[in-house]
Amino acid sequence: MKRTQMKRGSKQFTHGKPIDSKRKPLPHKSVKTARRDEELQRMTALMMLDDPTCHVRSPHCTGYMSCLHHVTARSVAPQRVLDPDNVVRSCSSCNNWIETADGSEWAEACGMKRRSER
Ligand SMILES: [Zn+2]
Repeated sequence: MKRTQMKRGSKQFTHGKPIDSKRKPLPHKSVKTARRDEELQRMTALMMLDDPTCHVRSPHCTGYMSCLHHVTARSVAPQRVLDPDNVVRSCSSCNNWIETADGSEWAEACGMKRRSER
């Protein structure tokens, strides 16, 4: 399809508003959250070196950890994101399954998930 080249300096519009090319996208995370997440990545890597197996062991387990599961959810207790007593080595399969309705019930029954802080 032949397209007409846009004229230099012509403004682009979306929904009636001109596109401001200088505008930066909003940051998705606060600096504090970004630093905490970096620290969590480091912690995950160190724990993986120490013992690379999944400790959640759900019916969907792949056996090898790839992340850390938070017993008390990050959203419930953000101050405990880096608390070693609040994390369990987990494979992504277990970690994802725990988020489902069946998995959540299973995790609560075996103490892998707490709805509120201790
Ligand atoms: Zn697992």
